[in-house]
Amino acid sequence: MEFVEVFDSPGKGRGLRATKEAWAGDVLFAEPPFASVVFDSQASSICHSCFRRQEKLQRCGQCRFAQYCDKTCQRAGWEEHKLECAAIKTYGKPPSENVRLAARILWRMDKQGSVVSDNQLTTLEDLEDHICDISEDDLKDFKVDIHNFLDYWPRNSKPHTVDSVSHILGVINCNGFMVSDQRGLQAVGVGLFPNLCLVNHDCWPNCTVILNNGNQSAIDTVFHSQKRIELRALGKISAGEEVTVAYVDYLNVSADRQRLLKQQYFFDCTCKHCTEKIKDDLKMAGAEVDGVKVPEEQVKEVTEFSRQKLEKMEKARIEANYNEVVKICRECVEKQENVLADTHIYYLRVCCTLSEVLSYLQFFDEASEYARKMVDGYLKLYHPNNAQLGMATMRAGVTHWQAGFIEVAHGMICKAFAILMITHGPTHPITKDLEAMRMQTEMELRMFQQNEYVYHSMREAALKNQPMRMMAEPTNEGIKNLFRRK
Ligand SMILES: [Zn+2]
Ligand SMILES: [Zn+2]
Ligand SMILES: [Zn+2]
Repeated sequence: MEFVEVFDSPGKGRGLRATKEAWAGDVLFAEPPFASVVFDSQASSICHSCFRRQEKLQRCGQCRFAQYCDKTCQRAGWEEHKLECAAIKTYGKPPSENVRLAARILWRMDKQGSVVSDNQLTTLEDLEDHICDISEDDLKDFKVDIHNFLDYWPRNSKPHTVDSVSHILGVINCNGFMVSDQRGLQAVGVGLFPNLCLVNHDCWPNCTVILNNGNQSAIDTVFHSQKRIELRALGKISAGEEVTVAYVDYLNVSADRQRLLKQQYFFDCTCKHCTEKIKDDLKMAGAEVDGVKVPEEQVKEVTEFSRQKLEKMEKARIEANYNEVVKICRECVEKQENVLADTHIYYLRVCCTLSEVLSYLQFFDEASEYARKMVDGYLKLYHPNNAQLGMATMRAGVTHWQAGFIEVAHGMICKAFAILMITHGPTHPITKDLEAMRMQTEMELRMFQQNEYVYHSMREAALKNQPMRMMAEPTNEGIKNLFRRK
């Protein structure tokens, strides 16, 4: 390990710190998963080896469960799937994702031990399982997983005690990391990355973690499905400084972040942003109309109204009832405007949803208006190199391009590209997409400046081909929390 080492972080247990100075975009470490599995819900649409979303997948002829892009992926995934394949056949059906992951971890441990590379900084036995922190309700599900695991685990594999099985399932519960598809837009599976488990949380972190599914290249088929996470510096990090990532989205007030962190990861956040409640005022602020502040009572009332509506909106969104989503959001915006500030997080949530859904419904003009408001708000709240900010700016850029606002679109795509070069790196598929978009919008902008008529007719044609379509449908399972908790 060139950039990091394990140390005792005061009040946090083990952590990682930098061993030398790092700068924005530096990769502090890259790590393949110890094991990973596709979610139950995605099992038929995602390749079980490279985790790419594909229209057509080939089913494993043996278990009829695992699916692959092609023979190359199937071969690459066979080592991990071999014992699982036989176990699924004997068990009669695939068990749940947690059980599948636990089994893959234990098969690998039985074969290679719990440290599988010189770069692995911890054994799996030493990772926290937080079993004694699990709530009564969750404990029931947890026991079901243990029971199912023991049923599923083949008789001819090495037997494990209930304690070691529950330790691994506990580790998965609090450290299982969301694995996304190739574009990084949707969580499609869960994996265990031992070094990443050592990186502590900070609400205003100095690093970000990104999954890179590897390059799709015909030449180096060896690296075809080399998914790995990268820990990337967001700014300057001095030697000796602890490296941190944010487990939860910063767009919550400190009390809510602390509650989420306690519930899901079992600790009390004492970071600077939580202790000093930094930016909480902006996130809950009222508007100023002609230099006069809106009365606090009114701000509170609309905040509460929005909170309730947002819950309803989430439900409609999960049901893919997009007309209902738009209706609820419009009701919200009507109440919010001139009462809530443009940095109020409930207002920004509505802007974000409206821009995404309206763009999906092809109301590009209106979508772009909300996208701009969203980005303006995000810029005042997020760290300038935050990955969510980069992704939102990219989406806003595409929406402006769709609406024909080529100057703003190009500006946003350039800004997004600058952020993603740091948070995702130059080889990530999304960064490559952005680079192509940057070239396209630059060319279109030049054309626009020379001859508006030619530009508009070309844009019509381009919209029909949809070369820059980002999302077929607004995603339900956005990646807001790093580690996965049920
Ligand atoms: Zn594949
Ligand atoms: Zn199989
Ligand atoms: Zn905090």
